[in-house]
Amino acid sequence: MTSSAAHASLACPAPESDGAVPADIPVVREQGQREVFCGLTGIIWLHRKIQDAFFLIVGSRTCAHLMQSAAGVMIFAEPRFATAILEERDLAGLADANDELDREVARLLERRPDIKLLFLVGSCPSEVIKLDLSRAAERLSRVHAGRTRVLSYSGSGLDTTFTQGEDAALAALVPDMPTLPLQEGAAEGGADSATDLLVVGALADVVEDQLGRLFAALGVTRVHFLPPRKAGDLPPVGPGTVMLLAQPFLGDTARLLEARGARRLSAPFPLGEEGTTLWLKAAADAFGVPADRFDSVTEAPRARACAALARFRGELDGRRLFLFPDSQLEPVLARVLSRELGMVPVEVATPYLHRGLMGPELALLPPETRLVEGQDVDAQLDRCRAERPDLTVCGLGLANPLEAEGLTTKWAIELVFTPIQGYEQAGDLAELFARPLRRAGLLKV
Ligand code: SF4
Repeated sequence: MTSSAAHASLACPAPESDGAVPADIPVVREQGQREVFCGLTGIIWLHRKIQDAFFLIVGSRTCAHLMQSAAGVMIFAEPRFATAILEERDLAGLADANDELDREVARLLERRPDIKLLFLVGSCPSEVIKLDLSRAAERLSRVHAGRTRVLSYSGSGLDTTFTQGEDAALAALVPDMPTLPLQEGAAEGGADSATDLLVVGALADVVEDQLGRLFAALGVTRVHFLPPRKAGDLPPVGPGTVMLLAQPFLGDTARLLEARGARRLSAPFPLGEEGTTLWLKAAADAFGVPADRFDSVTEAPRARACAALARFRGELDGRRLFLFPDSQLEPVLARVLSRELGMVPVEVATPYLHRGLMGPELALLPPETRLVEGQDVDAQLDRCRAERPDLTVCGLGLANPLEAEGLTTKWAIELVFTPIQGYEQAGDLAELFARPLRRAGLLKV
């Protein structure tokens, strides 16, 4: 398959949009009861990414239970996250929680000298008793200087939902990133071989390696990833950096990187054949990669992605899709599922809609899609029941009741835990949506 043939195929449609954001996409804003995980959940994928980091949640037994059940059956000989439980005495202000925290951290670091970066992660209870974890992190960084760096962020349900935990963790890393000096030739507004590319957002190692090989084949060699695999390998940032977000929920991190001089490239996110191509193209254009080189490097993986997607198109084409707000990936998923697999998104809800980051995605959504920002869960459940979609993507708490009502569901959390970015994972992404429909079909038989 040639690249133009790939574009002609319905399974891999032509990237017709120039990425321009439609002036006024209607968005319904809802405020009400939310059914979304808090930001602590991000630890479940972050602790696997930064191999010498440890996440110490300063929270309650509820937080510990959430982490245990969200992490499922994952049991590690040397776990990389834990909960320092605030007991009633702490909550009642009878004990000095700071002293206890210092003692717990000292005990942990003595037992685990391999921990190079310790995150103190705030929770609802630590916020309620106004435990200042940023000051605690500064203090503990001084105490354990030369051995372990201590940072803090909030994963509290009062401040964050689900994927915002990753944004908060990466934002905490930005001030520690070394400064990249502006090199000759890295003129403002353009980029060339003197400029570094920073890919921002936790990706599975296998995906990171694939993307790294594609950038190398394109001739973009100075590529860094945030977060790094080792705490000591924080990438540099400065006016010579251009960044590509690999995840759509990193608004705060992007803002801080921009304040350090990085220039953000605007592109759809690297999901599906089309999104991955447009995402890579944004970097290729910024680094002056000739079009024929881009085509020859991407032709084979694009063809593989198209073939993998085509295998699922028959099962998904024309099926109606309803997305509850969870991961902020919803508009991106709706774009892939509608443009590359023929699904019909009737409602696409997302906890927050960052138009600046999401513009190129919104430009690719079917214009009749109902976009919702925020949540009023009862009203949304009513709409979902009225629509009777073929597939509903929602959190764990909503999935069982909806299944009991005869609706077919997909757990949103799996989409964050599964490697779905890049060409080679396009088929896996499609299969995640085909599987529940297949299962529902078998159950009906
Ligand atoms: Fe619950 Fe808050 Fe703990 Fe999250 S941080 S588990 S919302 S108490």
